[in-house]
Amino acid sequence: MERLQKVIAQAGIASRRKAEELIIEGKVKVNGKVVTELGTKVGVSDRVEVGGVPVERERKVYYLFYKPRGVISAVSDDKQRKVVTDFFPFVEQRIFPVGRLDYDTSGLLILTNDGEFSNLLTHPRYQIDKTYVARLNGIPQRHLLKRLAEGIQLEDGKTAPARVKELSVDRKKQRALIEITIHEGRNRQVRRMFEAIGFEVQKLKRERYAFLNLNGLNAGEFRELTTHEVKQLR
Ligand code: URA
Repeated sequence: MERLQKVIAQAGIASRRKAEELIIEGKVKVNGKVVTELGTKVGVSDRVEVGGVPVERERKVYYLFYKPRGVISAVSDDKQRKVVTDFFPFVEQRIFPVGRLDYDTSGLLILTNDGEFSNLLTHPRYQIDKTYVARLNGIPQRHLLKRLAEGIQLEDGKTAPARVKELSVDRKKQRALIEITIHEGRNRQVRRMFEAIGFEVQKLKRERYAFLNLNGLNAGEFRELTTHEVKQLR
C-alpha cells in the first residue's frame, strides 16, 4: 500500500505537494469516490483518478542507457528520427529519458517511468555532477580552461563553477580532449561553454552521471539500475 499523493507524484502528474493540494481540493477519486483525506493509502488494484483521468500504476523501472550519437532524447519524433525508447522494444512500461542529451551527443542517460524520480533528478536544486568528454577543434590555453572552471558568461547567465581537465592534445591534428564536470543542465550547455572561449565541440560524450558510469556497455546498450543505485540517487 502506498500513500495517495505518492502514487500521483510517481505517475508524473504533479509534485507530492501539488498532489496533496489536488486531494484536498476534491479532485482525486479512489475507486470512483472522492477522497480528501491526505493519509489515504491505496493498493495496486485500487483505481485512482485525478480530474477524471485514470492514473497509470506500473511497476517502476530504472535503466542506465548508453545513448549513441544521432538519436533523439524523447519518446517520439515528428520527423521519424530514431528516439531513445526505440532501443527498449521489450520494455512494456512507458519509460522516458531523465533530462536530455543532444542529438549528436552520446553517453549516459537514465530512463524511467517514475515521474517523481525524474523531477527530483532534474531539479536545479539537486545539483548532480555530470561529466562530459569533449573533442575540440583546437587546443585551448590553460587560462581559457580556467575561465570555464570559474564560470563563464553565457546568454542565459553565468555558469556555476565547473571541474575542467585536459585529457590529451593532438598537435598534428590541432585538437584536444577535455573533460568537464558540471551540475547544471542548461540547453547545449557544454557546447556553448566551449563556444564562449572560441572552440567548437566536434564530439561530445557524457561519461558519468553522479556516481554512475558506462562501464560494461557499448553504445545502444542498457542495464537496469540496482535498487541500491536508485536509492543512492534519491
Ligand atoms: N551539454 C551539451 O552541450 N550537450 C549535451 O547533450 C549535454 C550537455
